[in-house]
Amino acid sequence: MFPNTIKDEFPTLKSNSDLVYLDSAASTQTHQSVLDRMNKYYEEQRCNANRGDFPISQLVSADIELAREQVAELINAKPEQIMFTAGATEGLNIIAEWYKDAPYVIITEAEHTANILPWIAQGRTIDNGRLIVLPVTERGTLDTNKACELLAKYPNGVLSIHSHSNVTGIGTDYKKLTKAAHDQGIRVIIDGCQTIGTHEFDPFTVDHAVFSGHKMYGPTGIGFMYSRLPYDRFRSVRLGGGSVVSYDLNGNVDFYDGPAKHEVGTPNIAGILGLGVAAEYTNYIGYDEMKKHFTDLDFALSDTDIFNIKGLELVFPNYRQNGRYVYTFNCNGFHPSDVSAYLGTQNIATRVGKMCAHPIVNKLSGGKGLLRVSPGIYNTKEDMNKLSEGLCKAISRLL
Ligand code: PMP
Repeated sequence: MFPNTIKDEFPTLKSNSDLVYLDSAASTQTHQSVLDRMNKYYEEQRCNANRGDFPISQLVSADIELAREQVAELINAKPEQIMFTAGATEGLNIIAEWYKDAPYVIITEAEHTANILPWIAQGRTIDNGRLIVLPVTERGTLDTNKACELLAKYPNGVLSIHSHSNVTGIGTDYKKLTKAAHDQGIRVIIDGCQTIGTHEFDPFTVDHAVFSGHKMYGPTGIGFMYSRLPYDRFRSVRLGGGSVVSYDLNGNVDFYDGPAKHEVGTPNIAGILGLGVAAEYTNYIGYDEMKKHFTDLDFALSDTDIFNIKGLELVFPNYRQNGRYVYTFNCNGFHPSDVSAYLGTQNIATRVGKMCAHPIVNKLSGGKGLLRVSPGIYNTKEDMNKLSEGLCKAISRLL
């Protein structure tokens, strides 16, 4: 487990020493080095990027490209395959627009709203057969073999799935699914939002993947897309300055090559610089060390009473897993919102409700919502004890 002093590297935890922050699947805390880079931009280098011949503009422009390299390195990609976005939601909306003419879109029932609504907005439904939904098993996993067989029925469609679920923390075998999908001419989009801060992401041969900075100890409002397929091939969904070499008023437009074609307007400069540092920090900590940390936390949590509390049923993952980093509970005999509210009064941060994944949460909880506990690299054994004590107290009051 990382030493308790790691909390001092996360300013919000440092300045709220009694906060037990267990909502990292919603948003991780931001590391000090990320804030330092963002502040440096605002305090010493504030200017627009890519347009100035003066030194700070040149420095900032170069550092934006450095951030692209840092992010690319984290996922073993090439910098030209990385496009900055406002986050996974924006990335998925853009990709959905690129594939709006696809005959079928295949998702899982455990997708985040950001990977459902953009497809529904295109008029796709289960009933009209243009939205295919893969069910998850009672273990919260996807039956990969069945899913691969099913793909054969939907040639030339699009498979758009998460690599880890924000509700269950369980991973999909996206590599096997990608192979099977490509055999059918199906394009593959991965929502890697929950993976990037917890597990190594291997772009393998997936066509596109999206990520958010605030899930990897970075800033909010910034994220990135990976695309194996060259960006030039895709229509610019958003149009504006910075994306064109030249154009005239008769409709002749010459776009930049690569991601620049899609990165329109003044970018979130501080966010991009912070994201680059967050990628470097994540790389420095290392996914193997994170896994060890989460496994140690899991043992610490298992030593508490948490899994034996009456009425609190661990839904997923309901079996021991190395590196388990999400715990989702169903509440029987009381409402999860009451539990979360009580924990809130104790300064214990968890999440309750539909987790932006309404179909699966409704199915699992009968519409009531779930309670999610999601640690990060800064959580300690003491945090686990406080959580367990808080839950015991909350539930003894509610039952
Ligand atoms: N997909 C998943 C699996 C997520 O957990 C989230 C964030 N909750 C998103 C997409 C959306 O990310 P963002 O809000 O950063 O755009």
